[in-house]
Amino acid sequence: MGTGQLQKAVRWYPPSYDIRVEDVPVPLIQDPDDAIVKVKLAALCGADLHIYRGHGGVEKIHTCGHEFIGEVVALGSAYGTHAKDRPLLYSTLKVGDKVVSPFTINCGECQACRFGFTARCAHSTLFGSPALEGGQAQYIRVPKAGATLFNLSDPKTWPNGTPTSLADSSLLMLADILPTGVFAALQCLSHPKVQPVLTGKPWPLSLHPNSATTDSAPLTQEDVRLTVAIIGLGPVGICTAVSLLDMLAARRHPHRIVGVDLLESRREKMRAVYAAIDQEGRGLGEFIACSPEEAKTTLGKWTQGVGCDAVIEVVGHNSALTLAYELVKAFGVITSVGVHGEPQLPFTGRQMYNKNVSFDFGRCPARAMFPMAFEILGKFKRQDVFGQVGERASLVDRITDFGQASESYRAFDKGEVGKIIFDPWK
Ligand SMILES: [Zn+2]
Ligand SMILES: [Zn+2]
Repeated sequence: MGTGQLQKAVRWYPPSYDIRVEDVPVPLIQDPDDAIVKVKLAALCGADLHIYRGHGGVEKIHTCGHEFIGEVVALGSAYGTHAKDRPLLYSTLKVGDKVVSPFTINCGECQACRFGFTARCAHSTLFGSPALEGGQAQYIRVPKAGATLFNLSDPKTWPNGTPTSLADSSLLMLADILPTGVFAALQCLSHPKVQPVLTGKPWPLSLHPNSATTDSAPLTQEDVRLTVAIIGLGPVGICTAVSLLDMLAARRHPHRIVGVDLLESRREKMRAVYAAIDQEGRGLGEFIACSPEEAKTTLGKWTQGVGCDAVIEVVGHNSALTLAYELVKAFGVITSVGVHGEPQLPFTGRQMYNKNVSFDFGRCPARAMFPMAFEILGKFKRQDVFGQVGERASLVDRITDFGQASESYRAFDKGEVGKIIFDPWK
C-alpha cells in the first residue's frame, strides 16, 4: 500500500437518504499510534440511521459504518517491544493479526479508560462520523489502535481458548451490538433499585446487610420474581434479551420478560431467537414478544398493576421513554442505551420524583465489555443465534456487497430487513 492507491467505500452525502459507493484514497498512518486494518466484514447498524436520515446534525460527506472486523496491514512507529508500559497491544500487535474494533476509539490510558468507562475516553471518537472515517470500506485507519482493537489472533485474549470455529459474522457482533446488549442487561441487574428483588431482602437491607429489618410483611415469591420489559427488538434489543436471559439463567433467578416492538417482523424474529435457546439458556422464566398495548395489559396482569422492576430502552426515541415510564414500577429503574436526538425528555422532574424512578443513560463502553460479550460467544452458547446467516433465528439476515449498499440502507431504514453485513471484497 502506498500513497495514491484507491479503495471502495460507502459514503454518506447530505442532507439525507443519499448513500454512494465511491473510490477514495486508501488511508495511511498519520500518527504513531495508528493501525491500518483491511476490512473483512462491516455491518450496518441502527445507529447509522440517525445520520442517514439527516438527524445527526451532520453536513460533512464521510465514509459510513462503525462495526468492522479485519486484518492489520500497517502499524505506526509506537508499536514494538519498546511500548511495554502502554496498553498491551502496543507491544504485541503484529501485521497480519485478525482484529475486531469497538465502535469508538479509546486510548486505554486516560482516567475514564482506567476506570473501564471507555465510551467516554478523553480521545473517544465514533467511527463513521464526520470526525473519523468509517468501516464500510476496504481499509480503515484506527487511531489509538493499541488500546482500541481486540486481537482475535492472540489465544490469550480468549477466556475459553482459540475460537477457530466461530463465524466472522458472529465475531463482528462484538463491535457494538453484543457488548451493548450485555451492558444494558448488566446495568439493569446491578442497579441498587433491583437488589431487593434479586436478594429477596427489603430495602435497605438488600444493600446494607447490617441495617435494621423493617416490620413489614415478608416478601412473597411473586415479589422476588424479576419482571423486566425490553423496549425495541431490533438487533440490539435481541442482544439485550439474549444477554439478560444468560445472566438470569446463570443466577437461576425466576423472571418474566416482555420484549416490546411496534413491528411484527421484529417480534417474530425475537420469538424465533427465544425458541432457538435451549431450556438451560432460558433459565427459570417466561418471555413474550408483543406490541406496546399488549405489553401494558400483560404486565398489568403479571404484576397486579404494580409495574416492572426494570425497563431497558434500546430505541432512542421519546415515545419509547414515555412507554418505559408508564411500564416501570415506583422505585424501578429505566436503563436506556438508545441514542436520543430530541432536545427534551418526555417527563417532568415531578413525574420522576413521584415514582422514585432511576435512570441510566448512555453509550456502551464496548471495549471494556468485550470480555463479558466473549463469554456469550466464546462458550459457543449462542452460535445458534449469532453463528448463522439468513435463518429464522439468525441475528444476521444477509451478507451482501457494496453494490447493494444504498438499497440496504433503504430497506433497513424501513424495517424490511434485520442486521445486514457488507463484504467489501465481494
Ligand atoms: Zn452499531
Ligand atoms: Zn482514554
